[in-house]
Amino acid sequence: MSDIRVRIAPSPSGNLHIGTARTALFNYLFARKNNGKFILRIEDTDLERSNTEYTQNIYDSLKALGLNWDEGPDVGGNYGPYQQSQRFDIYPKYAKKLLESGWAYECFCTPEELEAEKEESIKNKRPHMYSRRCANLTEEEKAKFRAEGRIPAIRFRVPEGETNFHDLVKGDLHFDNSLIGDFVIMKSNNTPTYNFAVVVDDMEMKMTHIIRGEDHIANTAKQIMIYKALGAQVPEFAHLGMILAPDRSKLSKRHGATAVSEFVEKGYLTEALLNFVALLGWSPSDGVEIKTLEEIAQDFRLTEISSSNSIFEYDKLNWMNGQYIKRMDISKLTDLAIPFISCYDLNSYTRPQLEKMIASTREPISVLSELTNDVKYFFGEGVEFEGDVMDKVIKTENSQMVLKYINEQIKDWAFDNPEKLHEQLADIRTYFKENHGIKPKESMWALRAAITGRIHGADLGVIIELLGKDRVEKRVQACIF
Ligand code: GLU
Repeated sequence: MSDIRVRIAPSPSGNLHIGTARTALFNYLFARKNNGKFILRIEDTDLERSNTEYTQNIYDSLKALGLNWDEGPDVGGNYGPYQQSQRFDIYPKYAKKLLESGWAYECFCTPEELEAEKEESIKNKRPHMYSRRCANLTEEEKAKFRAEGRIPAIRFRVPEGETNFHDLVKGDLHFDNSLIGDFVIMKSNNTPTYNFAVVVDDMEMKMTHIIRGEDHIANTAKQIMIYKALGAQVPEFAHLGMILAPDRSKLSKRHGATAVSEFVEKGYLTEALLNFVALLGWSPSDGVEIKTLEEIAQDFRLTEISSSNSIFEYDKLNWMNGQYIKRMDISKLTDLAIPFISCYDLNSYTRPQLEKMIASTREPISVLSELTNDVKYFFGEGVEFEGDVMDKVIKTENSQMVLKYINEQIKDWAFDNPEKLHEQLADIRTYFKENHGIKPKESMWALRAAITGRIHGADLGVIIELLGKDRVEKRVQACIF
C-alpha cells in the first residue's frame, strides 16, 4: 500500500451527477493504479441544501458503478468522521490558530454593509473585493462592535504576491493575490465555508492528491494559501476539464438525464456509463474504447488526462450502451430487463423462455427501456398493428396467399424443435419464390406482420416458438380476409 490518498467529496444537494461520477472514477483509478486509498467524504455543511435522500443516492450510485471506497461515512476509517456535518467542532480550532497567527481576522461587517460595498464597486465598474475595513481593528473597536450585538465572521488575510502551483493536468498556474479579496473562512454562525472546510478535511484526512473539476481552480489558490498559513503540506492538484453538452453549454437537465440514477432508470447499464465517462478526458493507449473498469485501471495515467473540456455525446453513449447490452451475460441482462417489462404477465413464461425472448430482442436496442415496446407482442392473445402494417403488408394479395398457405401448414410445424421449424420456414420461402415469384423477405413479412403487428423484431423462429401453436394459429387466422 502506498501513501497515496484521494477522495471524492460530493455535496448531497442532488442525486449523484454524471460529472461527479467521472471525478469519482478518475480518483478511484488513480488510487487503484498507485495502490493508494480512495475515500468518500460527504460535504454537507450547507445543511439547508443537503438531504439524506441525496446522500443515500450518492452511496447507491457509486456502489452501482463499482466505485467502492476504502474509507467513508458508512465504512469508517482512521481519519473520520467522513461527513462534514459531524466535524463542526473541528473547524473553529483551526480558525483560532489562524486568528492567533494573524492569518485571519474577525470581520464585523453586516450583510447590508457588504452589499453597499458591492454596489459601490459595481457603480464604479471595479471588480468587487472586500475593502478590508475590519482587517486592522483595535481591541476597543472590536469590543464596541460586540457591544452592538454584532457577531463576527472570520476572514483570511490574503498575502501580497502570487500563488503558483503546478497542476498535474493543466500545467503551471499563476494567480495574482492582489485580485483575491480577503475571503470568509468561518461564517458568523460558526460554520466553515467550503474553502476552509475542504482544506481542514483534506489536511486531516492526509489527502495527497486532489483530483476534481476545473470549476474549482480559482478556489485552489485560496486553499493553497490556507494550507501554507496552517504550515501544512500542500497536496498535488489535478483539475479535469468540464463536461459540456453537445451544444457546448453546461450539461443540464434540459439536455437529458444528468444523474447516474436517472440514466439507470432510463435503461443504461452502469458498466456502459462508467466506460463512457472514462472516455471524457482519458483515451485508451490501444485505441479500443470498450473496456472493463479493471482494464481501464491498468491503462490509466493521470498526467495523460486531456486538459480540455469534453463533450457529452448522448449518441455515443447510446451506441456504447447498445454494445454492452449485446455483449452482456444473458441471465444478468434478463435481471436488468425485468423492471422494464414487468408491465406484462411475466409468469406466462419460464425463466429460460424469458432469457430467450431478451436474447432475441436485444440486438438493435440501445437502452433497456426500449424493451417495453419491443417485447409487447410476446404477451397477450391478440396483436396491435403498427402504422399501416395492416393495409400495406397484411391485406396485399401476396400476403393473403402466404397467410392462407401458412394456415394450412401450421398443424405440422415443429414448435418444440427450433432447427426443424427453421427448415419449415425456409421451405415456405422457397415455395413462394419458386411458384409465385414472391421474394423470401416478402413472404416472411406477411407472417411476421400477422403474428407481431410489425415488420421488424426478434428472430421469427423464436417468436413462433415462444408464442406457441395456439397463438400463432389464431393470429394468422385473424389476418386472413
Ligand atoms: N463538495 C465539493 C463539490 O461537490 C467538493 C469539491 C472538491 O473536490 O474540493 O463540488
